[in-house]
Amino acid sequence: MKRIGMLGVLLLAGIAAAGWAEELRGGRLLEGGEVHAEFFVTADRHVELRFLDEAHQVEAVGGRVAVCIAAAESGKTNLQFEARGDVLVSTAPLPEGDGYTVIIQIARAPGEKPRNFRIVYHAELCGECERPEYACLCEEGEHAAH
Ligand SMILES: [Zn+2]
Repeated sequence: MKRIGMLGVLLLAGIAAAGWAEELRGGRLLEGGEVHAEFFVTADRHVELRFLDEAHQVEAVGGRVAVCIAAAESGKTNLQFEARGDVLVSTAPLPEGDGYTVIIQIARAPGEKPRNFRIVYHAELCGECERPEYACLCEEGEHAAH
């Protein structure tokens, strides 16, 4: 346990050294227009969204609103979000299974036009970078070679 804790400290130190907020969880970065956000799925499959400023520091949720549409085999599920501190957390978990498309819509305020992000949700860990596949940092080409 002690060694795992130490590794966690080292990883956090590495992220901090690179100028990224320590609050980040190692999820998928969503970047487009004015949106810089981290998409992270918790162990109980709830979606967390953290928002970053230009310096990659977590900033307040503010008036932002988000919706997640999970297109699972069992059907489409819309996830709503509520703010908990500086995090938007889905009020329900993602559907069972993985390998389905998740569309994340983020708007700066209610009623504003949202920006859409589309990712394929794969929960298993990548053997190379040890991040969940949905947040994998490996090059596509390298993956194909495995
Ligand atoms: Zn990877």
